[in-house]
Parts: sequence; structure tokens; C-alpha cells
Amino acid sequence: MKERTPPAELHPTDTALRRRLYLLTLSLVVPAALFVISVAFPDPSPMRYLALGVTAGWTVLLLGLLLKRLSHRVVEWGTYLLGAFIFVMVMLADLLQWHDRQSMAFLGAAQLLSPWAFLTFGDRRGLRLSVAFYVVTLALGLAFTLPYLLTGTFQTSPLASVWTIYAYYYALAPVYIVVTAAMAVLLRNLSQQRIRELSELAYRDPLTGLPNRRAFQEELDTCLSSARKKGTLVALCVLNINDFAQVNDEFGHTAGDRVLQHLAQRLTAQQPEGTHLSRVSADEFALIVPYTQLPEVTQLAQTLLKLGQRPLDIEGNLRPLSLRCGVALFPEHGQTRADLNVLASLAQAEAQRAGTPLTLYTPALAAQAERRRHILSALQQAPERGELSVVYQPIVSLVTGQLMSLEALMRWDSPVQDPPPRPDEFMALAEQSDLIQRLGEWTFQTILEQIQAWQAHGLRVPRINLNVAPQELLSGQYAQQVLTRLREMQVTPDQLELELTERTVLEADAVRELQVLFNAGVHISIDDFGTGHSSLGRLHKLPITGVKLDREFTSMLGQDSSAERLAGSVLALACSMQLEVVAEGIETEAQLNFLRELGCPLGQGYYFQRPASVAEITTLLKETQAGKVLTVLTDERTKR
Ligand code: C2E
Ligand code: CA
Ligand code: CA
Repeated sequence: MKERTPPAELHPTDTALRRRLYLLTLSLVVPAALFVISVAFPDPSPMRYLALGVTAGWTVLLLGLLLKRLSHRVVEWGTYLLGAFIFVMVMLADLLQWHDRQSMAFLGAAQLLSPWAFLTFGDRRGLRLSVAFYVVTLALGLAFTLPYLLTGTFQTSPLASVWTIYAYYYALAPVYIVVTAAMAVLLRNLSQQRIRELSELAYRDPLTGLPNRRAFQEELDTCLSSARKKGTLVALCVLNINDFAQVNDEFGHTAGDRVLQHLAQRLTAQQPEGTHLSRVSADEFALIVPYTQLPEVTQLAQTLLKLGQRPLDIEGNLRPLSLRCGVALFPEHGQTRADLNVLASLAQAEAQRAGTPLTLYTPALAAQAERRRHILSALQQAPERGELSVVYQPIVSLVTGQLMSLEALMRWDSPVQDPPPRPDEFMALAEQSDLIQRLGEWTFQTILEQIQAWQAHGLRVPRINLNVAPQELLSGQYAQQVLTRLREMQVTPDQLELELTERTVLEADAVRELQVLFNAGVHISIDDFGTGHSSLGRLHKLPITGVKLDREFTSMLGQDSSAERLAGSVLALACSMQLEVVAEGIETEAQLNFLRELGCPLGQGYYFQRPASVAEITTLLKETQAGKVLTVLTDERTKR
């Protein structure tokens, strides 16, 4: 890594070193001064008070600085004034008749200390001030002495008795200045070394040893400005570990850390010369590729992605990681560091969302992100604006054709158009924010009120299926809240069925909540079954009453023998576990017949009825109460 200037927030460390110097001064110079005073002026005398006063003044200044009561500026000026005061005293010594050796010794010593005082305000400045101070005192000393020398009266002058002291001072002061300057240089070197160490820390990620986000940002700036000058291209690749949270959850954070270290090592080993790899956040790496062409970048990104796929040993388990990479290019996509960061992250988020390893930024992506933002902000206000409603889709017995239950599905009369967002689109967005909780509560309340309304009309209401997002179930106290609400609205638990995805149902916390609901008599089914990864074998451990076979399987019946086999084995297993199986998405009679042959007891789909409004369902309930069945095995079904 190149030599860097220390970041601004490291300057306090420099101050910390200076504080040490003040402490040193306080602990060495002040006692020394007090010692000199006690020896030189044992008895009360103006000189003694002057000396004590000067020492006390300087002590107060340094203490004030150490305790952060005084600003640097005040102390600096205070020190100069003290220095000047001593100097004036030396000059006036003659007039004041302070000719005794002690007085002169003190004043000389006090002047010798001035480099120390100056040093506390930086080495260069301290040295300059000390030299200037010395030159001025020398000049003034000579100026005082010269008239006596020239007139040949020096021997009889008052100066004769004290000149030895002056001579000591003039001879010793340069030595003293050199010593303090050397100390200052030493201190500065120490301080710079420390700052360098800290800079190194400030620019390096301690876990992986890679440059960190700060280093990355500066490097990107450097690369961009050089690319601007040379007219070359820069690619920014943002790599994210897709399932890192899962690794942490499953194996613990220490294992997670090791995974990051291994991955960083692999990536570094494959990182081409001239590119810059950094760890920019917990599970995110950034690669800057200067002087490049697009095909090279995609090839490089593919190589890095493959590295992630090579299984890693995590606590004795060999596991591949799934990496997602987003790429943005300078100058084609963005001109500035900030733009490129945003666009590459956008591409990365899209890769994550779509489940594709590599996504190159396109303007369409920005438009999609913008649309998602619009949808989400409009959806926030949807409940208050009365834009939400619930439609119901029948689930019917494939044996008798009777209506068995109704799945409640949310509808939104959205202000966002072209095209208006579909339920799976806006629900998925709501799931990424806290909004899903509010929407879930709204739907639950709406269906409870609907059940009451139908019952008030004397209608027999079948079980109502409610879709529940993982965040709702895991929001804490979900089960209790549902049961309380059911009681309040006088709806029996077995009138409610919750539909959850496999992913949700397999979480330990979810299982606890579900168990409470299950014990209370609420029906629980796994939605979109077969699309996740849960093995059939794990089903029997879960508190569930049914599974809904994903629409994809129904659509493949008669076309794909493995889908048929899976449908068959799910049915057999579910039967043996006395689970209810609903085949979703039945659209044709052929599919219906297939499912009937396989022995599937329940079905749902456009073949019977599309999701319908409350008015339509009310009519349907009246008709079914009069004995109407929904399965009519003819081709002439009218489908809307
Ligand atoms: P889902 O739970 O799998 O709901 C079934 C979806 O399949 C519904 O789409 C329904 O209209 C559609 N469908 C039913 N029969 C057929 C068919 O024969 N063919 C085809 N092609 N589709 C059929 P919808 O209403 O657009 O809902 C989409 C998804 O949005 C739902 O999938 C569910 O995951 C989510 N969702 C809808 N309402 C809610 C809700 O209130 N809460 C939660 N958490 N999610 C909801
Ligand atoms: Ca569902
Ligand atoms: Ca479903």
C-alpha cells in the first residue's frame, strides 16, 4: 500500500504525544526549578518570590493545558510572556542591584529553561524561538557590555562581577538548544512512527489484512482522476457474500470471521496486478480495475465468483459460498466516486435480488430501483388512504368439488402505474421493510371483520387462509397476539389457516411460535411447497397441518416426469402424516384429472375460480350453502 497522509481524526494522537511532553516538563523542570530556588534563595527575598512566581506561573499554564482548561493559544502566549519577563529581569538585574551570584544563577538558569518552554509548541517553532531568543540576549548582553569595554572601565563596572555567569549562559545555551532540538526531533520521529502505525490501522481491515473502506474510497479517487487524465476506463466490482448471515447464524461469528479471511486470501491470490481489492463492509469486497475493457472485467468477475463457489471448510463442513457481484463502469455509467459506488451497489443488490451471480449496471436498473422506492413510499400510506382490499380465492375438494376454504389475498389500488405493482412485487418490497408487519395486521383485522360480517348475514364461513410473512411471525409474541385477536373477534382458531413458506417454517424461533398456534387449533400450512430446499423427511417434526404444492408442479404435470414423481411422493408422505395437501394453480382439466389420479385431496386455481371480491364470494357462499359445488368436470367452464 502506498504511503498515506494520516487521516484528520488521528491528529489528537499527535496532541497526546505533546501532552506527554508537558507532563515530562512538569515533572522534571518544575521540581528542578523549585530545587534551584530553595538552594539559591533559602531566605525570603524579592528574588525568591520572583522565582517562585515564575515557576508557579508556568506550572499553572501547563496544568491548565493538561486539564483542558486553557487553550493552546493562551498557554503559548503565557509562556512567551514569562520568557520575556525573565529576560527583562536579567536585563534589569543591573539596575535592581541583583548582582549577587545566586540571583544571576537563577536568571541564567531560567533562561536556559526557555528552549524547553518553546519546545512544547512544536519542534521547528521551538527551535526557531530558542535561537532567536539566544541571539537577542547575546546582542543585548554585548550591547550592555560594549560601552564599558570600549571605555576601558569594564573591570570597575558592576558587570565585572557577574560576567562569569553571563559567559556560562552564553556558552551553555547553544548546547542546551541543541539538546532540546535533538529531543524534539526524537519525539517527532516517535510521534510520526506512531501516526504511521495508526494510519496503517486506519486504512487496513484488521480481520483480513485487506485495505478497508477508507483506503478503497481514496484509491478509487486516485484511479478515477488518473483515468480522467488518460481517458481510460475504470471498472468497480462490488462482491457480496449472499449467505453470510446464515454462516454466522449456523456456525458462529468466529467461524464467520475465518470464512472472510479464507475468502480474502483466495481473492487476493487471484487478484490481477494493478487492481485494488478492499473489504468495504462486513461481507462485502470491492475490486477496482483500472485500464480495462468490459469483457476483461466480466471475465475477472466470473473468476472471482468461481473462487467463492469452491467449497470452504467451515468447522469441518465443506460448503460453497454464494457470491453476488455488481459492476459499474467509469465513465460510461458514472463520473464520480459517489455515483460509481451507488451504481455498483445497485447492480449488486439486483444480482442478489434476482439470484444471478453477476449483474452489470444498466440505466434500467436505476429505473427499477426508482420504481421500487416509489412503490414502497406509496405503500406506506396505502392503509390510511383506503387503497387496500382483500380478495378471496376458493380452495376446493378435488373429490366432492365442495368449497373447503378461502385464501385471503391482498389487493392494492396503487397510485403507481405503468404497470401497477402486482401483489408479489409489492409484498416482497414490504417484506424488506417494517411495512410488512402493518400490512399483515391490516389483512388479519380485515378478514376477522369479514368473517363476522358474513356470519352476521347467516352465512356459513369456511376456513380462511392467511398468508404470513416471516418477519410477522418472528416479530415476537405473534402467536399470542393472533390468539388474543381471535378471541376478541369471537373467531374460533380452527377457522384460521396460516400459510408460511418453507424457509420460514424451518427457523427454530418460528417453530416455537407455530407450536403455540398449532396447539390452540390454528391450521398451519407450508405455502409454495417444493420450491425451497426442505426435505420431505423434516416435515414430520414441524407443527403443521398441511402443505400447498407449488403452482410450478401443477403446471409441469403431464410434461415433466420428475415433477409428477415429486407430487406423488409428497402426496404419499403427506397422507401418511395426515397432512392436507392443496395443489395450487390448477388451470386446466388435464391438470385436475392428473391430480385426482394421484389422489390429491384439495386444489386451488383459475380452473375453479380466480381470486374474487367480497361481493362475488358472498354470492358464492350463498350458492354453496344451497348445495352448489365448484368442480364441474367439463371443458365449458367459463374462465375470467
Ligand atoms: P401465494 O400465497 O402463492 O398466492 C397464490 C397466488 O397465485 C395468488 O397471486 C393467486 O392469484 C395466484 N393464483 C391462484 N390460482 C392461480 C392459477 O391457477 N394460475 C396462476 N398463474 N396463478 C394463480 P397473487 O394474489 O398475485 O399473490 C401473489 C403472492 O403475494 C402470494 O402468493 C403471496 O405470497 C403474496 N401475498 C398476497 N397477499 C398477501 C398477504 O395478505 N400477505 C402476505 N404476506 N402475502 C401476500
Ligand atoms: Ca398463499
Ligand atoms: Ca402459494
